[in-house]
Amino acid sequence: MAGTSTESPLVEEVAPGITRIALPLFGIAGGVNVHLVRGDGPTTLVDAAMPLPGALEDLEAGLRTAGSSLDALELLLVTHHHLDHMGLAAEIHGQTGVPIAATRPVADAIADPHALLVREVGWGEAHIARHGAPDGLLDLARAGEPLVRGLPVAPTARVLTEGDVVRAGDHDLVVRVRPGHSPTDTLFVESDPVVPGRPVAFVGDHVFRAAPLTPVLGSMLGTDQRPAATYLRALEETAAIPGLLALTGHGPALADVAALHADRRGALDRRTGRVRDALTPEPRGTWDLGLEVWRGVPSERHGLTRLGALLASLELLEDEGAVVQGEADGRVTWAATAA
Ligand SMILES: [Zn+2]
Repeated sequence: MAGTSTESPLVEEVAPGITRIALPLFGIAGGVNVHLVRGDGPTTLVDAAMPLPGALEDLEAGLRTAGSSLDALELLLVTHHHLDHMGLAAEIHGQTGVPIAATRPVADAIADPHALLVREVGWGEAHIARHGAPDGLLDLARAGEPLVRGLPVAPTARVLTEGDVVRAGDHDLVVRVRPGHSPTDTLFVESDPVVPGRPVAFVGDHVFRAAPLTPVLGSMLGTDQRPAATYLRALEETAAIPGLLALTGHGPALADVAALHADRRGALDRRTGRVRDALTPEPRGTWDLGLEVWRGVPSERHGLTRLGALLASLELLEDEGAVVQGEADGRVTWAATAA
C-alpha cells in the first residue's frame, strides 16, 4: 500500500479547545479526521486514524502543528470499530500508555482486530450468499487481512455504555450508542455546551457530508434488527439537537445536520420509489432485483454499498406493507404485495 506522507495534515481549530487534524488517507479526498480536545480536563484525542505506513508520523506532525504531542495525550476516545478510526489506537497506547475509552464492541476490535475481520468476512460471505450477490464483493475486505494481522493490540481501560459522561478538555460528553454507518457507531454529545446554544458532538462517520445514508454491512456484529429504521431514527435524533456542530470522521465540521439529513432522506425515498416500481408479484432474489433497479452491474468497489442501500429501501417498503420477503433455495426473495 502507498505511503500517506505526500500531503501534510490539515490542522484547524473548529471550536474553542477543539482542533481538527485531517490526516491523509490513500484514495479518500479530505482524508480522515482525528480531533484534539484541550482544556481543564484530560487532553483527549478522538479517534486514531488508519494504520498505514507513515500515518503515526503524520499524526505526530499534526499534533506538533497544533502545539501538542502524543505524550501530552491523557485520553483516547474511539467512535467506531472501522480501521480508519481505531487503527492506530493500540500503537499510540503502546508508545504513551494513554488510556483508551470505547464501548465493548470497539474495545473488542482494538483487543483483537484480526478476529473481528475474520468474523466480518464470515458474516459477509453468508450475507452475500443469501442475497445472491457475487463473492468478489468481499475482495476489498479480504485484502485488509495482512495489514490487520500485523497490528498491535491494546486493552481498553474504560468500557463505555449508553449515557456515560466522559470529560474531555472543557467538555462533558454524553455517550450515545447509535448503530447506523457501522454497528458500533458511538456519538459523544456535549451536554452542557461550553459555547451556550452551540453544543458539539463527535460523530465519527455516523453523519458526514460525503457519507451515503446506508447501513454499512449492518448486521456484522449481530445488531441487524431493522438497520435502516434504526439508522434513520438515530439521525433524526441527532438532527434535532438545536445548534449542533457535528465533528465528523471525514471532511469539515457540519453545522447543518438537519438540512443534510433532510436531503439524504429525500434521496433515500426516491431510491425506495424506484425499488417499489421494480417489484413484481413473482418473487425475485435481492441481487436480481438490484440489477434492474441499478440498470446494470455495480463495480465490486461499490457493490456492497449498493446492496446495503437496496436492503434499506426494501426494509422501508416492508414496513409500509408494499413487499413480502420470502426464501427459496436458501436465498432471500422479494415480491410485491398484491394490491
Ligand atoms: Zn471512516
